[in-house]
Parts: sequence; structure tokens; C-alpha cells
Amino acid sequence: MADCLFCSIVAGELPATVVREDDLTLAFRDLNPQAPTHVLVITKAHHPDVAELAATDPDGLTALHRTAAAVAADEGVDRSGWRLVFNTGADAGQSVPHVHGHVLGGRYLEWPPG
Ligand code: 5GP
Ligand code: ZN
Repeated sequence: MADCLFCSIVAGELPATVVREDDLTLAFRDLNPQAPTHVLVITKAHHPDVAELAATDPDGLTALHRTAAAVAADEGVDRSGWRLVFNTGADAGQSVPHVHGHVLGGRYLEWPPG
């Protein structure tokens, strides 16, 4: 999609530190990490948020979760614990309207979040 930040990363028009890639998904480090492990997992296809992804592309939704788990294992946080967060909409602070799961780990993650 034109003028979408994460579509530009998928297209290679913007740099990113990619840690995993498959046919359907891309995983790259967050520019402003909130934990020792902070990786964004996206579908290569443009979807505005996780609700729309679930409604229209269940294979993409499954692939995104599979990639998130693989990233957690790659980062060595699969045993210590990790969190997958989808901010959805304005009140949740979603700032990029292309579905992305935040894989967070490597420190104790407070609950409930602030
Ligand atoms: P949201 O607030 O929408 O849930 O998450 C968007 C995330 O994207 C933020 O954590 C922010 O740091 C990250 N981000 C914004 N722009 C870029 C960018 O150009 N490259 C990377 N790697 N991360 C970005
Ligand atoms: Zn996009």
C-alpha cells in the first residue's frame, strides 16, 4: 500500500534490521526498543490491524503467530517468557496502521501494562 511505513520496509525501500522472514511474514527490530528483545512481526501483505487480519486472512494470522514464537526461540526468551502485543486503534496507541505484533522479552514484563 502506498504511503505505508511497514509496506515500505517489506518492499526494501526503508532499512530495517530483519531477524526472520518467510513467504507471508517479516520480523525486524523495533526502532525504539522497550525491552532487551523487542521485535515487530508483520504480514507482508497490508492489513490495517489484527482484527481485520483475523477476519480476512487466517493463514496470515497463523503465520504471524508462528513467526513470533520462532523469534522468541531465536532470541532465547522462549523459556524465560515473552509477550506478544497487538496495539489496536487509537486508545491502545497504535501508531502504524499495518498489523504488527510486538514480541517483548528479556526482562520481567509488568502486568497489567501501564
Ligand atoms: P504501535 O505503537 O503502532 O503499536 O507500534 C509501532 C512501533 O513501530 C513502535 O514501537 C515504534 O518504535 C516502531 N517504529 C516506528 N517507525 C519505525 C521504523 O521506521 N522502523 C522500525 N524498525 N520501527 C519503527
Ligand atoms: Zn502496509
